[in-house]
Amino acid sequence: METKIVRITDADDPAIIEMGEIIRSGGLVSFPTETVYGLGANALDSGAAAKIFAAKGRPADNPLIVHLCSISQLETVALDIPDKAYVLFESFAPGPLTVILKKRPELPDTVTAGLDTVAVRIPSHPVARSLINAAGVPIAAPSANLSGRPSPTRAEHVIRDMNGKIDAIIDGGACSVGVESTIVELTSGTVNILRPGGITKSDISNLFGSVSVDRHVYEMVADCEHPKSPGMKYKHYSPEADVVVVEGDTKSSADTIRWLLAKEKQKGVMCGVMAYDGCTFDSEAVLYVGENNKTYASRLFDSLLSFDKLGIKKVFAQFCRDDDYGLAVSNRLFKAAGGNIIHSDGGDIK
Ligand code: AMP
Ligand code: MG
Repeated sequence: METKIVRITDADDPAIIEMGEIIRSGGLVSFPTETVYGLGANALDSGAAAKIFAAKGRPADNPLIVHLCSISQLETVALDIPDKAYVLFESFAPGPLTVILKKRPELPDTVTAGLDTVAVRIPSHPVARSLINAAGVPIAAPSANLSGRPSPTRAEHVIRDMNGKIDAIIDGGACSVGVESTIVELTSGTVNILRPGGITKSDISNLFGSVSVDRHVYEMVADCEHPKSPGMKYKHYSPEADVVVVEGDTKSSADTIRWLLAKEKQKGVMCGVMAYDGCTFDSEAVLYVGENNKTYASRLFDSLLSFDKLGIKKVFAQFCRDDDYGLAVSNRLFKAAGGNIIHSDGGDIK
């Protein structure tokens, strides 16, 4: 299949009409959002949703997020919507928040992987919003990467994974948040974060007081377990390079990385909150991802994919913990590293 690649940065660009038509008639279009690039299909068309799973190589039991334009459309895909869901959407929509709701029966099982719930998001990216409007249907969209790979934050990442497999790719420039949406579950009555993302735990606890974080955000999922968010059990965010996370304060983690670099040649370093004066590394590829975990999140996937492009085989990724964006960064990094974490303050080396 020939994939049409169109540059659209303006929500009023007339080319969006054609992209919406492709979605409405059962095709696949990758589009930019504020979090990462999505791979969109008509959420009301089971056959179209099935094409997403085929293009990504996504396991059929990993459900898709349904994208809408406004709070008033929630009832077109969900039932019995709790008050807390409205509070969340009124506070953070449009934006990087996904809420798990009870699904309407007419929504195809392919989209929700047979669950009786649906994940719903209202993106803020003007091109994404314009596309949903042009399609005239809710858009089911996971991240537009091959399953298991880092999520795409630029059109070139999507082109690498999806060219020739889908109808069209909208190049709308780099995604600003850079990690996926925060997924919140309310169905059990409590407010539970299933995936940390662009809306932080403190943003949500400012609304409700107590907020829990699902343990699978921090822990690898054992083979016998059934996590609440099915995607958590799969290998995720892995570049071609092996990733080793070096966790600790700025100085001790930098020292540990220097020691590791001296032992092994040809390694990359991904530097996070450590860009302090005189911070240098003897490595052929060093990518600074900013001065805090928010900038780290925005450049995380792009940096992992850049190391692949450079042919780097091993990446030492520094990580300094915090309770804000640090939760989203650590969740993605720890999964990318498959649990391979070194604690630079003298803890275990796995
Ligand atoms: P992605 O689209 O790549 O960001 O992945 C979507 C994530 O949302 C996956 O981890 C899914 O398991 C999760 N998800 C989608 N629908 C549901 C649902 N109904 N209940 C729980 N998790 C969901
Ligand atoms: Mg994904």
